[in-house]
Amino acid sequence: MLVDNHNRRINYVRLAVTDRCNLRCNYCMPAEGINFAKSDKLFTIDELGRLSELLVSQGVDKIRITGGEPFVRKDLMVLFRKLASLKGLNEISVTTNATLIGPYIDELSELGIKNVNVSMDAINRETFEKITRRNQYDVVYENLIRLISEGFKVRINFIALEGQNTEDILPMLELTKHYDVSVRFLEEMPFNGGSKKFQTIKWDYKTILQHIKNQYPDFYKLESPDTSTSINYKIPGFKGSFGVIPSFSRTFCGSCNRLRISATGDVITCLYAKPSMNIRNIFRQEKSDQKVKQKILEAISNRAKTGFEAQQKYQGIFENSMTSIGG
Ligand code: SAM
Ligand code: SF4
Repeated sequence: MLVDNHNRRINYVRLAVTDRCNLRCNYCMPAEGINFAKSDKLFTIDELGRLSELLVSQGVDKIRITGGEPFVRKDLMVLFRKLASLKGLNEISVTTNATLIGPYIDELSELGIKNVNVSMDAINRETFEKITRRNQYDVVYENLIRLISEGFKVRINFIALEGQNTEDILPMLELTKHYDVSVRFLEEMPFNGGSKKFQTIKWDYKTILQHIKNQYPDFYKLESPDTSTSINYKIPGFKGSFGVIPSFSRTFCGSCNRLRISATGDVITCLYAKPSMNIRNIFRQEKSDQKVKQKILEAISNRAKTGFEAQQKYQGIFENSMTSIGG
């Protein structure tokens, strides 16, 4: 079992399978000049399968596949098939921009992989295209509605971006009136490839909640697990629900149960900390899993208690992009 130095059990791993993406969301990466990792620096799909198996043998029961855009990897379904076969892995999920998922929806459903987070930061086409710097609105909307209609547990991730999409908060919320979907409003974080730096944000979770309250004063809180990063609510009479994720305010760090492994093998024990180590080469060179397990245990035995503590050591300079960390 993986237990950190604050006695928190680590049972949730976010695995980034690539740093590449077919969109260029302006809060995530610059428009151009991005140094993507060479393919030999990325895990192969077989390696990702073996790594997942090893993690599950250590008590990890929840794996989220992320990226970059996971579905730019043509062999991604091989990994999903492997994950679906792992005993003890109770929850498999994916975070996607929903541009390329269409051809795989049926097989995901057959494999029982029903948890899909779709990142969509605008319901207005023009706003969406400005943020993503690409014209993929129709396919994203179509795949989103298809996923919901075909019984997937869909959560929409919407980052509140000052001056860009806050007029879409209430229209996006309207989706939950007609569809059983959860819309989660996230605070923007300073991981955008270094293109923008900030110490505070205007649209924090309290401002988002107040904005919603002005329109829907009767919403009420839902029960959420202790380890949840979102605080969840429902508007009476609406089919779906909504949540806020204080990713910049970091109210949830104390119960953090997660570990991130980046596309290139960096082990990230806290979003606001420097990666503790890179396990790709150790993993490649070692035939036995023992050394890899030992390295992962070492990484989590020196974990900051909160993102604020980690940030102090890191001096607050973030050049990273979410596209390599995986969100
Ligand atoms: N490409 C996929 C997608 O967009 O869903 C998966 C990878 S993306 C990096 C994972 C999550 O990170 C997305 O929900 C995205 O909105 C979020 N993200 C990226 N940059 C962010 C930032 N600067 N602040 C907060 N969230 C961010
Ligand atoms: Fe790509 Fe996701 Fe980053 Fe947007 S948020 S640029 S879709 S990796």
